Amino acid sequence: MSGPVTKADAPPAGTDAARTPSPSVERHAARMTEVGGLPVRRLLPKRTRRTVGAWCFVDHFGPARRAAMRVGPHPHIGLHTVTWLLAGEVLHTDSLGSEQLVRPGQLNLMTAGDGVAHAEESPRREGALHGVQLWVAQPSSTRLGEPAFEHHAGLPRLDLGAATATVLVGTVDGAASPARADTGLVGIAVDVHEAGEASLPLHSDFEHAVAVVDGAVLLGDDALAPGEIAYLGTGRDELTIRTDGPATFLVLGGEAFDEHLTMWWNFVARDHEEIAAARADWQARSDRFGPVASALPSIDAPPLA
Ligand code: MN
Repeated sequence: MSGPVTKADAPPAGTDAARTPSPSVERHAARMTEVGGLPVRRLLPKRTRRTVGAWCFVDHFGPARRAAMRVGPHPHIGLHTVTWLLAGEVLHTDSLGSEQLVRPGQLNLMTAGDGVAHAEESPRREGALHGVQLWVAQPSSTRLGEPAFEHHAGLPRLDLGAATATVLVGTVDGAASPARADTGLVGIAVDVHEAGEASLPLHSDFEHAVAVVDGAVLLGDDALAPGEIAYLGTGRDELTIRTDGPATFLVLGGEAFDEHLTMWWNFVARDHEEIAAARADWQARSDRFGPVASALPSIDAPPLA
């Protein structure tokens, strides 16, 4: 289900059309939780907003001056993990044999397909840490396929005047990210350097959401800050943001993902049977997932409800 989000109430009679506020945004507060002892703001999925394009999971952690990520080996199916940092470093190891440090400005993208396992940990005991971990649901055409891992140290950047946009996934204004995308998808990190206004072209047939990770921004009349996600619907060919100072926000979007998803723990599937099979395979440490070179203990799946 998707579509432009409009105000439920019609504007009062006599309202000057030019002064009618832009379509309101659908705001969702994060749920606070923790991953491997690290507090995170979980922005997706929400009960009434499961996906934005194929983006199906958004965790925002930090900023922290002294924190560490310690997530031992665990499995995934049916999704891409996307790791993007604003501060700190995270070492990724996986069952494909990848070992890759990711730093701010770089992108790690792992494709689970039918099964992969990985671990993520801070290379130092404690340090600055700020970033997001995102999941993208794989479509039926690729979700049972091979796992893969990509690291992108250089991503296209766009000068927006008061801001710089980095294209994590997809294409913005002709600038294409080299990262894999199995469906029409866009992910953009916008760094605002100074007070002012920044406009970003959007695909009007994509649905989009904005998540502020640092500072605060004004989207029309809506003041947005970390700890919530603002769903913008479809039908926008431009996003204009105003700020009073430096800020960083993410724009996530894509073609509406219309396949039914069943998400449980680290698995994105289509039904309970697939989830139960993946859980059993992981608990048996079957070859479907494979070993991960990590000193951290591997993580058992919780009991199935
Ligand atoms: Mn993971």
